[in-house]
Formats: sequence, structure tokens, C-alpha cells
Amino acid sequence: MLGKKADPKDLKKALFLERENAWDHIPETQMKALESYMGTYRSFLDYGKTERESADTAIEILEKAGYVDIRKTKDTKKIYYNHMGRAVAVFRQGKGPIEKNLRILVAHIDSPRLDLKQYPLYEDEEIAMLKTHYYGGIKKYQWVSRPLALHGVIAFPDGTVNSIVIGEDDDDPVFTISDLLPHLAGKAQMTKKANEFIPAEKLNIIVGGKPFSDDKEVKDRVKLQVLSLLNETYGITEQDFVSADLEIVPAGKSRDVGLDRAFIGAYGQDDRVCSYASLRAVIDAEDPEVSSLILLLDKEEIGSEGATGANTVIAELVLGYILARHGLDQSAVIRGLLANAQCLSADVNAGVHPDWKEVHDLRNAGYMNGGLVLSKFTGVRGKGGSNEASAEYVARLRDLFDKNGIIWRIAELGKTDEGGGGTIAKFMSYYCMNVIDAGVSVLDMHSPFEITSKADIWMMYQAFKAFLED
Ligand code: MN
Ligand code: MN
Repeated sequence: MLGKKADPKDLKKALFLERENAWDHIPETQMKALESYMGTYRSFLDYGKTERESADTAIEILEKAGYVDIRKTKDTKKIYYNHMGRAVAVFRQGKGPIEKNLRILVAHIDSPRLDLKQYPLYEDEEIAMLKTHYYGGIKKYQWVSRPLALHGVIAFPDGTVNSIVIGEDDDDPVFTISDLLPHLAGKAQMTKKANEFIPAEKLNIIVGGKPFSDDKEVKDRVKLQVLSLLNETYGITEQDFVSADLEIVPAGKSRDVGLDRAFIGAYGQDDRVCSYASLRAVIDAEDPEVSSLILLLDKEEIGSEGATGANTVIAELVLGYILARHGLDQSAVIRGLLANAQCLSADVNAGVHPDWKEVHDLRNAGYMNGGLVLSKFTGVRGKGGSNEASAEYVARLRDLFDKNGIIWRIAELGKTDEGGGGTIAKFMSYYCMNVIDAGVSVLDMHSPFEITSKADIWMMYQAFKAFLED
């Protein structure tokens, strides 16, 4: 303790909290490893733009690291569980007793986007168009006048499933939603509110423009041309759209942002930035004493509902399979293991935007380059719809992160009553476990080009690894 006679400068240093820049705490010796991590993270983004593609990419990474499909092994040391191709659970057994001490990292691999409607294709003014239904919280005006790609699967009644990716190769065509020219937008758009000037039913994709034949007696010749091309390549008819999961996402790859390459810009970093760090942390953790469960889930952006979201028994299901192999199949053991688990809900928060500071409480905000960001609670209107991490759990994590040289901050999502949002955390708290949100700050969240800081990603990865090793 410093007394009343202490030098005010020393006292201030001892008592005040200083804002840190994570770059100042990354030694030059780590820069090569940092950039190599960012390279593999960027491929994870580029090859996984939908929840299905992210699940496939994650499984490829896991298999290379020696993880085995739980359905193909009796072992429980390093296994994964592929849930409907849209969510993945990973289990790594620690050295300690399997029924005690579990660390959980839970992240999501779905991102806001435009889904095709079930009967999407039509022709209007001799242009073929696809109707969409947006998924998750988007600002609709960000999706017009830009190159878009089509990703997804078509399932046929005979059980075969065809994957489609169009718009990512340099010589692929892309798709787009055409906006109105400014010359004529005065009344139709410019006087309207931002959430009204691109109505959802005008989020229609241009998919073709050449008539199939010169026989003008045939109606819908352009639509016919598009369907005939789809039929040639993928064997589909109009009816097959009903058994398809087809998603429209921004075309193109992730990029470094800034002359100094401090940032990464890409679609879908919420929450693949945390999903990838969780994957790497469980693979790279050194000889952990405790077991780890990593859940990469779907449907977070629409409230974690649905068979592949966090509001399911997936944790119990997977742990049930594992514990049964150790003769511990009683549900009480599973429930106890989950209740005593420690969980990080690995998800992003908003970084303070230099031009829009007014939406943040700057004392309680996350900053770009501020390192790992924790959110004690989320929710709206007085913490509604969130869980809240306890003082004790925050104290335990403070100790862990400080001991491991992690630069971190705790932040709220904007000013109180400014807006809000939810994450997977509250669904994990259903199992009576300690859980807190942990991730990185993001600029431009939910946009087609989200921005993250490499220094923050590096701190998050090391924090996750330390969490699994502790
Ligand atoms: Mn998220
Ligand atoms: Mn989100």
C-alpha cells in the first residue's frame, strides 16, 4: 500500500487503470508467428463463407491435427463430432479425471447474409432475378451495388446433395443487387429513413439477361436460359430450389487493411475470428490437465434457435457419447461436469469507431488494438435477455490473463439504451456453468467487410490457449 505521502505520479501509476495498446505488448520475436497465424486465419475465412463451409474447413484442420470423427473411433483423446454438417463439437481429453474439470469455448460459424427464397427465380423486364430473405441483422443498403457470390447446397429426393459455389474464382461470373441511380432517387429513396430506402423485397439478385431462343412466342425466355444453364451444370429444375440451402454472400477474399497491415478486412469475421482462435487454441494447447470442449455452432445470428444452434442439448449429447465410453453414462455425471465447467462464449464486441464515438460509453467500451475484450453481460433495456458473469468468475479470469501477459479490457456493447444484442453465453448458462463473452473488437460489424485488429486476434488466441491449459 502506498501512503498519503506517496508521490502523486507513483500513486496514480499504482491506482489508475491505463488503457493499453496490444501492439506495444507483442514482442518482435512473435511477429513471424503472428503473421503466419493471420495467413491461415484468412484462408479459414476465404474457404468458409457459410456455416456448412466453415464446418467442413474446421474438420479439415482438425483431421490434419490428428482429431478423429467420434463415429469412427472408440478413443476419446482427440475427437470431433460433425452435427448435421452445420456445427462441430471438438473434445480434447486432459490428463486429469475425465468427469472433472471441463473448459468450454463456444463460438458461432454463421454470419448475416441473404438466403434465397424457396421459389426464388423470376423474370421481369427481360432480366432474370432471384428473390432473397435476409438472415440476421443487416443494414440492407450495404448489400446493393457490389459483387455477390452464391454458396450452398441443393438436396435431391434420391439423397444426393450438390454443393454450389459461384462467384469466387477470378473467371466466375458474380451476381449483384442493383441500386437506384441518384438522379431518380430523390423521392423514392433520399427522403426516407435508412432502414426503409432499400426494402427487403427489393433485395433481388440479377442472375441473367440473355434469352434462351429467338422464338418470341416463348414467354420468360431469360428465366428459361438461367434454368437451362443451372440444369446443365447442377441437374436442377425450378422445383429443386425448395430443398436447397442457398446463400448470397459478398464475393471475394479477405484482405489486409492499412499500409502497415494492422487490420484484417473480410466478410463473416463475426464470429469466425473467435471460431478459428478456439480451434487453434484446442489444437495448440500444450499437454492440458483439464479436458476441453469446443463448440462451433450455427444460428447465433437469429437467436441460437434451431437444431444446429446453441439452444440444443449438443453439449450433453457429445459429452454423453464420451463419458459412456468411460463407463460414466449417468446424466448426473454429465450435468455435474457441465455445471462445474468454465466457459468462454467466444464472440466479438464493437470497437470504438473514431467517427461515431457518440454511441459508446468511452469508459466502458472496447477499442481496436485494445487486446482481448470481455463482456460481462450483453442484452438490452437493463441487461434484459442476457446472462451476467459473476464477480468471482471475472476475478478468476483476470488472474489467468494477467499471469499470461494477455492485454485485455472489459466492455459493454455501446451506451446503455443505445441498442444492444445477445450472444450464445446465456444458452451455456442454462447448464448452470460460469460463462462470459470473450473475443475481439470489430469495426463495421455485420457488414460485408468487417474489420479486426491482428494484435487483438493474437491476444485472443493466446488467451484462449492459456484458458485451456490452466
Ligand atoms: Mn457474434
Ligand atoms: Mn453477430
